[in-house]
Amino acid sequence: MSHQLRSVELYLVRLPLIRPFTTSSHTKDHLDHILIRAQDATGAEGWGECASAADPYYCSETTESSWHILRDFLIPHLLGVTWDHPDEAARTWQAVRGNNFAKAGLEIACWDLYTRSGGEALAHALGGTRKEIHSGVSLGIEPTVEGILEQVARFVDQGYRRIKMKIGPGRDLAYLRAVRERWPDVLLMADANSAYSLDNPDHLSTLRALDDLNLMMIEQPLADDDIIDHARLQAELATPICLDESIHTVHDARKALDLQSCRIINIKVSRLGGLSEARRVHDLCQRRDVPVWCGGMHEFGVGRAANVAISSLPGFTLPGDISGSDRAYREDIVDPPIRAHRGAIDVPWERPGLGFDANLERIQARCVRQLLLEAERSTVSAA
Ligand SMILES: [Mg+2]
Repeated sequence: MSHQLRSVELYLVRLPLIRPFTTSSHTKDHLDHILIRAQDATGAEGWGECASAADPYYCSETTESSWHILRDFLIPHLLGVTWDHPDEAARTWQAVRGNNFAKAGLEIACWDLYTRSGGEALAHALGGTRKEIHSGVSLGIEPTVEGILEQVARFVDQGYRRIKMKIGPGRDLAYLRAVRERWPDVLLMADANSAYSLDNPDHLSTLRALDDLNLMMIEQPLADDDIIDHARLQAELATPICLDESIHTVHDARKALDLQSCRIINIKVSRLGGLSEARRVHDLCQRRDVPVWCGGMHEFGVGRAANVAISSLPGFTLPGDISGSDRAYREDIVDPPIRAHRGAIDVPWERPGLGFDANLERIQARCVRQLLLEAERSTVSAA
C-alpha cells in the first residue's frame, strides 16, 4: 500500500517527572518531548516521538534543534512524496547529516502509520518474536547512599529484573558496594555517561575496582567519541563495557566490535535515528553473538511503545531500561498506559501499529507549542 503524507503536526509536550533524575552531568524534573502526528491522503495516521532532551548534555541535539530540523528539513522533504515502506520515507532525508533524534521521531510515525494501516503489529513488522520483554529500571544518582538503597528496595520489591545505577566520580564505588552488599544476586549495572577519563589515575583505579562487584556491565565510562580508549580499558577490565553514546549508526557498532571496545551494545532507537537502524545494529550483534538491550530517554508512551516493539526482537537478551510509564510519570499520553507486571511488559501483538493510542486530549492539555505542516502550507500556534 502506498502512502503520501498530507500533513504532519508537531506537539511540544511537557510532562513533570514523579521524581527528579540526576546523571553524572545534570538533574531534571520534567521532560519536553516532541510528539509527531503524521496523516496520509486517506486520513490514516501514525504517531512518533522525538525524545531529545531540552539540554545538550546527553548528545548535541536538543528539543529546539530537533524542532528546527523537523520543521525546516525532514518534514518538507517528506510531505507529498509517495512511499511504500518507512525505509523509503527515510530516504527522503538521507542528505541531512546527524540529527538522529529528530529523524527517529518522524521515522517512528511512518512505521506506526505503515503498520496501523496494514493492520499489523509493529513488533511483528520488525521481526519481533517475544510475547513479553524483561524490564529494568535506571536509577539516577541520589544525594546519599541511604537514598539509593531506598530506591533499589522499591524497584526490587516491584519485581524489576535489573537495576541500573547512574554513577559519576565520587558518587560511584560506595553507592555500588552498598547495593551489592544488600542484594548480592540482583542483576546490577552502572552507567557513567562518559564521566571518566583514562588520563586521570583515580578514575582508572575506580574503574578497575568495579571488577569486584560482579556487575553485568559498565555503560559508557569514557568519552562519547572515544572507541579507542574504550578498547584499551576493556582489555584491562573483566567487567564488560557496554557502549551507548558512542554508537550512532550500524557502522559505529561494527567498528566498536572490530576494535573490541565493548562486549555489549545499548540500542537506543532515538540515538540511532529510528527503528530500522536499531534493527540493523541488532542484526549485526546477533551475527556476532553480542548481547544487546534497549536503552531509554524517559520516553512518553509513544516512544516507549516503539522501544517495547524493538525489544521484542530475539537478540534483546538482556533486560533494558524500559519500565512502566508510571515509574516516571503520573499520567502518560497513551491508552492503555504501558505497565510492567513483575518486571515484564507485554508486547501488544493483538493491536496494530505501536499498539498504544495517543490521547489527543491529554497531549493538548500538556502541549506548550503546536505546529501544523501541510503539503501546501503551514501554520504555527502557541497553546
Ligand atoms: Mg546510557
